[in-house]
Amino acid sequence: LPDASAKRLRIVIVGAGFGGIQAAKGLHHAAVDVILIDRNNHFLFQPLLYQVATAALAPTDIASPIRSMFAKQRNVTVLLDEVEAVDPASRTIQLHGARTLAYDILVLATGARASWFGHTDWAEHSLGLKSLADADVLRQRLLGAFEAAESSCDPAAIASLLTFIVVGGGSSGVELAGSIRDLARYTLKRDFRNIDPEKARVLLFEGGPNLLAGFPDRLAAYAEKRLAALGVELHTGVQVEHVDADGVVAGGAHFPGKNIFWCAGVAANPAASWIGAETGKHGTILVGQDCTVPGRDDIFAIGDVASFTDVEGHLLPGVAPVAKQQGAYVARVIAARARGAAAPQAFKYNDQGSLAIVGRSSAVASLPHVKLTGFVAWVMWSCVHLVLLAGLRNRILVYVQWVSAWLFNARGARLMIGNSTSPK
Ligand SMILES: Cc1cc2nc3c(=O)[nH]c(=O)nc-3n(C[C@H](O)[C@H](O)[C@H](O)COP(=O)(O)OP(=O)(O)OC[C@H]3O[C@@H](n4cnc5c(N)ncnc54)[C@H](O)[C@@H]3O)c2cc1C
Repeated sequence: LPDASAKRLRIVIVGAGFGGIQAAKGLHHAAVDVILIDRNNHFLFQPLLYQVATAALAPTDIASPIRSMFAKQRNVTVLLDEVEAVDPASRTIQLHGARTLAYDILVLATGARASWFGHTDWAEHSLGLKSLADADVLRQRLLGAFEAAESSCDPAAIASLLTFIVVGGGSSGVELAGSIRDLARYTLKRDFRNIDPEKARVLLFEGGPNLLAGFPDRLAAYAEKRLAALGVELHTGVQVEHVDADGVVAGGAHFPGKNIFWCAGVAANPAASWIGAETGKHGTILVGQDCTVPGRDDIFAIGDVASFTDVEGHLLPGVAPVAKQQGAYVARVIAARARGAAAPQAFKYNDQGSLAIVGRSSAVASLPHVKLTGFVAWVMWSCVHLVLLAGLRNRILVYVQWVSAWLFNARGARLMIGNSTSPK
């Protein structure tokens, strides 16, 4: 590790997601030593997780080794470790196994995790989608359900196995629901002898009045129309009140189904408690206009773990562009401090719009000056995601698989490895 007593500032970044990676890259030319810590050895492109979960892509297509991303940046040392505590008074962090590490400046970029809002029993009966491990379990459950149905003789059991309940109608839930129907209707349609995969039901529950909250009403209405045409059964304006092994209760009615996928909420990873910070929504760390924690100009918090309200009073959303732009901004602030130069102006988010896939070859795009739907939006979605993916190798692999999926309905990642996780 770089010498802590050396004159150069030691910057410790916790979390190598969108925000942490961008912060480390932004310090490329700064005369500082950066230690980038993550409990995983890979950067994960979460917006495409649902494609891994539905067998459209392989895990390696959307993940990149952090170490190789910084192979050429000599001032970055990558550590595979888990941070468990921070002592702001002595400016040290505690790693797994009680090892400590000193910092001059700490950047917390630990992101968020799936949250069942205190219903721990619901978490036992439904699968979240936040990591590659989650996507793997979800894919095994999905493919395992078709396999179990194929070998069952009980029509009621088959119906239950082939019912997929998605809770949460934001972009993750919409994309997952559409992709499961797509898989059942097109990819699997000739592969089974005793069941008709096309009959698989996908139920999508959203507590708000429309899908895709945050998108303009016209685009949300388009998304609903497209998903309904694909065969997704929509339940908007209905709160899920209970989840158990046999299904969900929503709006007072019981909806049976063995496969429940939870896309309804996230909470910040628990970094706020490490530093005793004031918290905002879902345990996020309240930060000031320069992304520092109030009263602690040596600790920054960025991305999903932070709660940033801009000068107009808008709370920034938990999306990748916010994390990336905050990471780049924090790097500029730190580089200025290292040079002894004046700090840059307050952070300002440049919102370039939102995109979501809504079923086969169709998307919605809400851009600052134009709203697009259908195939054109889908082409735009595909191009944007290819550009944003880390690494040329992943871009080429994903492009080839998307073209093959589009032309031949093929999904190359339909492997079930290890024990089947099909529901009983
Ligand atoms: C299924 C899904 C779909 C999404 N789709 C979109 C989309 O279409 N568009 C969009 O803009 N956003 C999307 N998002 C949100 C987007 O991925 C997040 O906003 C973004 O990842 C936040 O970046 P971050 O750097 O704050 O955190 P992350 O990217 O989550 O990175 C946090 C990192 O911190 C590490 N970490 C956490 N705790 C510790 C610890 N104690 N010690 C060491 N390391 C730790 C984690 O391993 C992780 O690598 C989606 C998210 C999900 C889950």
